Amino acid sequence: MAQTAALRIDPAPPALPDAAILAATSAIADGPLAAAAARIDHGEYPLPLMADLGAAGALGAHLKGNGSRFGLAISAMETASRACGATGFLMWAHDVCGLYLDQSGNPALEGAMLEDHAAGRSFGGTALSNPMKAFSGIEPMLLRARKVAGGYVVRGALPWVSHIGRGQYCGAIAAVEGVGGSVSHEIMFLLRCDDRAELRPCPVFSGMEGTSTWGIRLDDYFVPADDLIADPARPFIARIKGAFILLQTGMALGVSAGAIASMREVEGPLGHVNQFLDDQPDDLEAELADLRAGILALAETPFETSKDYLLSVLDARAQGAEFTLRATQAALLHQGARGYLASAGPQRRIREAHFVAIVTPAIKHLRWEMARLSRDVMPGGAA
Ligand SMILES: Cc1cc2nc3c(=O)[nH]c(=O)nc-3n(C[C@H](O)[C@H](O)[C@H](O)COP(=O)(O)OP(=O)(O)OC[C@H]3O[C@@H](n4cnc5c(N)ncnc54)[C@H](O)[C@@H]3O)c2cc1C
Repeated sequence: MAQTAALRIDPAPPALPDAAILAATSAIADGPLAAAAARIDHGEYPLPLMADLGAAGALGAHLKGNGSRFGLAISAMETASRACGATGFLMWAHDVCGLYLDQSGNPALEGAMLEDHAAGRSFGGTALSNPMKAFSGIEPMLLRARKVAGGYVVRGALPWVSHIGRGQYCGAIAAVEGVGGSVSHEIMFLLRCDDRAELRPCPVFSGMEGTSTWGIRLDDYFVPADDLIADPARPFIARIKGAFILLQTGMALGVSAGAIASMREVEGPLGHVNQFLDDQPDDLEAELADLRAGILALAETPFETSKDYLLSVLDARAQGAEFTLRATQAALLHQGARGYLASAGPQRRIREAHFVAIVTPAIKHLRWEMARLSRDVMPGGAA
């Protein structure tokens, strides 16, 4: 008996149920996060609240060890974004960084590193705007790598990367140059923001100021094999692209839900005149429910790579951004001057919504991608 007990391997701790994660996330969102939203808008980086969200299970639901619950990760992001879009964006950046580690197949990045990340004991984001645009043919790749013994050295600069700081990290991609400067392929790696990486302050943005966004400059930064997420990077990106884009919809759903809630807040005092506005909360609520249902259905198969699936994801992301612009503008029209106060949620959400619309992939980038993919699938279309 004693021997049998000694040989038994303890199973992994059971993943927290969906309802428990959403209830804990709501408690954070409706309590301390809602109270801090205006301060976060003006520059307070909410790392303690991110740690709370991690402890609540809101930052790791989509990981393999937790049952790959992408729909739950999106719902948790929606819940937080209702109170604060900047924190929703931090959750997305954190979630996709976890996705990179989880899918890397690199034992040095899985295990303890991933566990700490998922639990909100360590923090990191994503520097993939430029590579995503570069892979779509929109702009050149900004980081360049050279093969050296035991890894690569990387140089170059990225203008803005969020959810980083000293001791933090982010997923990044560099084009590998051979002799003569020709590019053979790209590598994806974990960029550690230690003293090898120069962090440069960004200009002041009109919103999202609490996202700890920095410029990064690398000068012969050494990437050891242990920090490689994918080599080559392109097949890896093709595999995770749907999940990367789909996860962002949590921000769109949440900022829109927050906007609808602020329309309802003034139904009593202002309903008699607000009824003449084009967008009414019941209609927007129904549209939001349809959008959410479509997104959660797509989240059942986040690693599908068919063109039809990717087109649906791009479309859901674009529709989400467009809907958020409309819902937040409607909320300001409903609230009038009280929503225009510097401390008011509706004017903050308008700026958050515009960020949802311009963060990579921006609406214009999504439409470019959809046009390219549609041409590919149409008979006789240029590839
Ligand atoms: C608050 C904030 C946080 C962000 N966080 C991240 C992040 O975590 N990770 C990440 O990879 N990207 C991040 N970005 C970049 C973002 O995803 C987009 O790439 C960026 O907003 C530009 O996208 P665009 O496609 O509209 O490019 P466009 O506006 O069309 O611009 C084309 C190119 O010019 C560059 N550019 C434009 N204006 C300037 C300027 N004043 N100074 C320097 N370069 C400029 C852009 O970066 C872009 O590469 C962040 C941007 C902002 C504003």
